[in-house]
Amino acid sequence: MEKKPKRPTIPSKTREQLYIKAGGRCEFRGCNKYLFTDGVTRQPRKMANIAHIVSWTPTGPRGNENSEKLAKDISNLMLTCAEHNNLIDSNEYVDEYPVELLQQFKREHEERIYRVTGMGQEYGVRIVKMYSKIQNQVPLIGDKDVSEAIRPYYPLDAGINIDLTQVENIEEAQKQIKRTVDLHILSDEKEESYGIFIMAKIPYACYLGYVLGNKVKSEAFQFFRDTQDWKWRAGEFGHFTILKPTERLDEQQVDLLVEVSGNIDCTLIPEYPIYSVRADSPGFLFLQSKEQLIEFRLKFREVLSSIREIHGEACIVHLIVAAPNPVTFEIGKSIMRNIDPTILLYDKVQDDIKYKEIMCLHKRINRTEDI
Ligand SMILES: [Zn+2]
Repeated sequence: MEKKPKRPTIPSKTREQLYIKAGGRCEFRGCNKYLFTDGVTRQPRKMANIAHIVSWTPTGPRGNENSEKLAKDISNLMLTCAEHNNLIDSNEYVDEYPVELLQQFKREHEERIYRVTGMGQEYGVRIVKMYSKIQNQVPLIGDKDVSEAIRPYYPLDAGINIDLTQVENIEEAQKQIKRTVDLHILSDEKEESYGIFIMAKIPYACYLGYVLGNKVKSEAFQFFRDTQDWKWRAGEFGHFTILKPTERLDEQQVDLLVEVSGNIDCTLIPEYPIYSVRADSPGFLFLQSKEQLIEFRLKFREVLSSIREIHGEACIVHLIVAAPNPVTFEIGKSIMRNIDPTILLYDKVQDDIKYKEIMCLHKRINRTEDI
């Protein structure tokens, strides 16, 4: 070959930037070869070529009047393997690789590298905070406390707030919860994990769990009053027991009690056969660990299955809950829409007054009618 003018040296900063943008891989469409390790021996090597889309000289491949100007411009440079650098510059094939096509290769590759390396999804958690007024106070869920609770995971930049402090009634709260979940969580295609932080009334937490269901990965956290944080504790803590009635097994309606933070006064609930998932020692300090929550979920599912078997699919469950938010959330979440009977949720407005039905948490899907 004749001696050509000297190819300009690409500044090391520009080179470094290109390596990063290309993820150290050949940008020729379909190649993607990693250029810093030998493909066979895995020994560290540097086989990266920097190819010019518009040649650095007007007489070179795809060269034009801008050649000189673009010679060191990163937008005109492609990281390639030797093979593909050769191919796109070869006399034989150069016409098959016009400027626009190579720009497209570069753009596609760099966008993909950026997207793929940006995932890190397994360590990112999207935080959902839900709060309503409690005893006329607006509770605060602090960002720092949240970060500490989800370690070793990190909160993803934008969290989701469900602020129910202004809602007037339960229907309004349900609407707002459902709207937020549909819009910001179920429409999300990225399959993220959600960390749930609730400081709200029992029915709200229950309903949030219900609308989320198992459609996304979610985990609820609890605020510990004694240490004022949300960190689950490690260790062996109390268990749950299932209580079942021994008579009136042919009735079409049952009470289902969840007694975790306290006991439920049986004189204040509807008079049906009573099922219960009960903490061994109910109280505000009972729930301490994630493992307990998992045990609760299993027991709660077990009792719902028993009710269905014993009283039939068409029976109605009157659900009365005295439990912290993570348990309440878990109740809603573990309801299986296709098989569970109708569940009516009760709440107590005042002490010594009977529990009142406040929400149809789940309406049974009547399959025989559908056919
Ligand atoms: Zn290549």
